[in-house]
Amino acid sequence: MRNFWVSVLTLATVVSNTYAQRPNKPSSTEIHHSLQKLNFLGTALYIAAHPDDENTRLISYLSNHDKARTAYLSITRGDGGQNLIGSELRELLGVLRTQELLAARRIDGGEQWFTRANDFGYSKHPNETLKIWDKEKVLGDVVWAIRNLKPDVIINRFDHRTPGSTHGHHTSSAMLSMEAFDMANNQSAYPEQLQLTSTWQPKRVFFNTSWWFYGSQENFEKADKSNMLKMDIGVFYPELGLSNNEIASMASSQHLCQGFGRVTTRGSQDEYVELLKGDLPASNNLFDGINTTWSRVEGGKAIGDILYKVEEDFDFTNPSTHVPELVKAYQLLQNIEDAHWKALKSEELKSLILACSGLYLEISAESASTTLGSTSKLNVEALNRSTQNVTLKEIKLMGSETNMLPKKVLSENKKENFSIEFPVPETAIISGPYWLKEQGSLGMYTVKSQKMIGKAETPSAFNAQFTLDFDGVQINFEKPVVYRHSKPDRGELYEPFVVLPEATSKIEEKVLIFSDSKTKDVLVSVKAGKDSVSGEIALQHPLGWTVSPKSKSFSITQKGQEQSVTFKVTPPDTDSEGKISPIITIANKSYDKELVEIGYQHIPKQSILLPSEAKVVRMNIQKSGEHIGYIVGAGDKVPESLKQIGYQVHIIDPNDIQKGSLDKYDAVVVGIRAYNVVEDLKFKQPILFDYVERGGNMIVQYNTAGRWSKQFENIAPYNLTLSRDRVTDETAAVNIIANDHSLVNFPNTIKESDFNGWVQERGLYFPKEWSSEFTPILSMGDEGEDPKDGSLLVAPHGEGHYIYTGLSFFRELPAGVSGAYKLFANMLSVGKSEVKTESDVKG
Ligand SMILES: [Zn+2]
Repeated sequence: MRNFWVSVLTLATVVSNTYAQRPNKPSSTEIHHSLQKLNFLGTALYIAAHPDDENTRLISYLSNHDKARTAYLSITRGDGGQNLIGSELRELLGVLRTQELLAARRIDGGEQWFTRANDFGYSKHPNETLKIWDKEKVLGDVVWAIRNLKPDVIINRFDHRTPGSTHGHHTSSAMLSMEAFDMANNQSAYPEQLQLTSTWQPKRVFFNTSWWFYGSQENFEKADKSNMLKMDIGVFYPELGLSNNEIASMASSQHLCQGFGRVTTRGSQDEYVELLKGDLPASNNLFDGINTTWSRVEGGKAIGDILYKVEEDFDFTNPSTHVPELVKAYQLLQNIEDAHWKALKSEELKSLILACSGLYLEISAESASTTLGSTSKLNVEALNRSTQNVTLKEIKLMGSETNMLPKKVLSENKKENFSIEFPVPETAIISGPYWLKEQGSLGMYTVKSQKMIGKAETPSAFNAQFTLDFDGVQINFEKPVVYRHSKPDRGELYEPFVVLPEATSKIEEKVLIFSDSKTKDVLVSVKAGKDSVSGEIALQHPLGWTVSPKSKSFSITQKGQEQSVTFKVTPPDTDSEGKISPIITIANKSYDKELVEIGYQHIPKQSILLPSEAKVVRMNIQKSGEHIGYIVGAGDKVPESLKQIGYQVHIIDPNDIQKGSLDKYDAVVVGIRAYNVVEDLKFKQPILFDYVERGGNMIVQYNTAGRWSKQFENIAPYNLTLSRDRVTDETAAVNIIANDHSLVNFPNTIKESDFNGWVQERGLYFPKEWSSEFTPILSMGDEGEDPKDGSLLVAPHGEGHYIYTGLSFFRELPAGVSGAYKLFANMLSVGKSEVKTESDVKG
């Protein structure tokens, strides 16, 4: 809990969100708002599956209207989705989305929690979801969150009673919540957790329903609401200058990588929750009948007597007059037995004491990163902007021997500055997301320390403890060591201060395809984590492959600089795949990580260390034709993949498509979702079909269907109706149903074994109906469903061929799946004669 970004939350400010990294400087109305939250002793826990599932309107309402401690438990970090703002995918996307959730919570006043479940991609049913996640572990993590947060009320985003009606992760999140509600108070459930926390029984669990779950507004109006509570979540907060739904829109708009930037909404708006378990409240307040005052804690009444009075008599022009009362309340709080409320309310009180006295405490490093055993210069700034008597007694770097005893009286508005030479201990922990430090599985991250489970992010690398004396009462304040700097075009910036290895390496191309036995040059870059780094670098490789030279030396003078080295990699003659990984050796220590940095304006900079490696695949692949025209859709890496196996890929600007302009291509490939995103493409269809008629080969990859499908009346030269059919199990059996078709015979023979090793899914948005000109080539289906024949359809048209495929080539090719390459090469070769002509090859 004691990490920077969470401790910032204790004083909610909705105005400072643009600079996520900047320390919070609340105004007096914001301080008063936090004081009201301090005086509310109730907790709500919202549970759903992904970043963006959460209803920020309700989270903000519970946090800012009810003043409750409000947490969002997202079962996953959203690793399996798509990214609209950058190239981060899978685990890196999970890191980005984690930070977007934290950014949202900084605005709506909530807290962020997670389980160890990995968002492995789309899932149709909770049965599948809970098989791929380790259900016992994820359930344990939900129980752990309940036992730690001790919520009075739990709100599920999804309905646990309707499996199969939405993403399997969604229903699973609600099912797990219901089970955990009944388990958290049971001593014999997950007993190992009770070493670190205690059992807890929440009072009520609700389902955050809406008309959407009823199919229409009309159905919802008619629904029985006797078991529901209704709240106006459009309420206006004069202290914050914002209405609840404005705050909610701002919070949702942090989900930028999912394209959730949106306009704010205002005005009265009803929100419903349906009671699932527990007693029905007498009013529309979720906490009705639950004691949420200081008297719920033994010994709390005396503290409440002080703090309610401060809230009532609050001096908005000079909050510092309340510091002595807050300090008194803090002292009383230290004597209570209840460890849960003591820890929680102590942190809130300390934040308020700092805020009321205008105390500025900061410890910042002179650079963004350091290495084990190095010395970093840290600057301390301490400033008391009130007339209260405050003395700075001591500053201690936690987890190290470094401390200093300045014993300075902090006089009003007189800045104190110190510098500390900080020797970074050899035993310090290298920075990076804690859940990525160990090898996980498809459905689960591995986290060894129980204490870390649930945390949104890794706590700051180093914290300083400031001991302050307020008229004889000593209080310790923790501050993370940060990196503060400025950019001329952006102003003052804050970044986390991180510990990195002395050197990291990177292979730019993550998958290298060898379609023949020729040697390829592989470029490896080395990046220095400190000044004056020199050593050796070697490339580990699979058996049967050769790499030369065995190793190379490098020498880099400046921290952050890179040096590139080239290795010659030769594959074996036969099919083979494996990994190549650079190993750096510096003074007998080896380093095998790649440093990935994620930087966007709406989140703090992230430094992630991943295994430095690339996949190498040797596949014997036959091709016919050489020049491929590619029309880019929503963005995929298929062109790069085709280049790797020797095709010349030419990107076609849709505006340049004219009659005859495509004739030079052996095939024209349309990128994923092109008809969804390239507005003008539908007007070019007659020219594309004309190209096909005169002997061309056109391949269209998946487009999404649904309410927009009308747009696609002319997606193919014949009738073709897209659907939402998909096969999400990447291991689902595939039957070749058109055995004699050239698509599975020329120039490569496709066997069922070519569908082994596929990743994430088979395909999506398969056509459901097609006219008789089309030949379906493959048949496949998820477990328990009828097989679907629409994944790969081919039709002759004039002298040429048209192919539509929902197979996920955009995932399989960049992952180096050899069967997918062979099938793609065959699609590109349809209509070519058996004899591969030299003129084709030479273009
Ligand atoms: Zn979702």
